[in-house]
Amino acid sequence: MDFESYDPPSSLVVPEHQLTHSKFPFIDVHSHHWQMDKQDLNQLMREMDSLNMGIVVNLSGRGGEALKAMVDNVKKQGYEKRIAFFTNISFNGLDDADWQTNTLKQIEFDVKTGAVGLKIFKNLGMDVKDSKDKRVPIDDPRLDPIWAKCGELGIPVLIHSADPKQFWEPFDSTNERWLELKTHSRRLRTASEVQWEQIMKEQHSMFKKHPKTKFIAAHMSWHANDLDMLGKLFEAMPNMYVEIGAVIAELGRQPRQALKFFTKYQDRVMFGKDSYVPNEYPTYFRVLESNDEYFPYYKRYHAFWRMYGLALPDDILKKLYYKNALKVISGLDGSRFPK
Ligand SMILES: [Zn+2]
Repeated sequence: MDFESYDPPSSLVVPEHQLTHSKFPFIDVHSHHWQMDKQDLNQLMREMDSLNMGIVVNLSGRGGEALKAMVDNVKKQGYEKRIAFFTNISFNGLDDADWQTNTLKQIEFDVKTGAVGLKIFKNLGMDVKDSKDKRVPIDDPRLDPIWAKCGELGIPVLIHSADPKQFWEPFDSTNERWLELKTHSRRLRTASEVQWEQIMKEQHSMFKKHPKTKFIAAHMSWHANDLDMLGKLFEAMPNMYVEIGAVIAELGRQPRQALKFFTKYQDRVMFGKDSYVPNEYPTYFRVLESNDEYFPYYKRYHAFWRMYGLALPDDILKKLYYKNALKVISGLDGSRFPK
């Protein structure tokens, strides 16, 4: 028998609280829906209602006419208060004379169309190259006008940089993500020209250069396994926020440390999920709300360990679920959320 097949059911008998919906309405600030220009949204609404999701933020807004088609379809079906969009930009042609002007114009158009933020994908810092075929660092000065414009327009930038640090580490018995790298071998970054630490450094240096712009670092900036370090980053960058997408298993394995962190930095963390899979949300609710012990995560290749509930107090839960998002993403409609 090997590691992959050894996964015995737990014989532990303890109280269990399976939660089907969140205690307070929540805003998912990190979601992706690619068909919203033509999608019938009624099914999505039914799922959102049953989970108690008040607003979903679709980070795949694309921009320009594509964004407009999505916004129009959402409005036509009457769901503009429940579905929000972050727009996207392209770094192709970064060194062309009109790239900057056109990109700034596009962002202005998108905000007028209804975008409430800008989402930057992880290709920046890893794969985006300039006209000389050189990697474009996240804190590259050529991008400064973009971040400044977002601050000016009062929209936050949600940015996903790098991947879990283990993807850069040796693929062997010492790697906590060994199973993920075995089943998803393209995620292995050991041959990458840029190191994880470098990408992170660039992200944070960019945040520091633009104190008037609010940044939401996706996936807790991949520091959910070192919350003291994330706290230090928060102290150094008052304009930095995070969301918890795809790192719930990190929080669930350190319930006491995570509760301390969520208490101290209760104004800086938002709810996000990333992949939209309705039946995975209850695990998030259970980690955040319950006091349950030793329960499983739903993807063993993310976490071979079991988790514990944080039992967050109501006032912190409300901030995490919606208050912080409403404060930072000012274009959202707050009318359906309790004061
Ligand atoms: Zn995402």
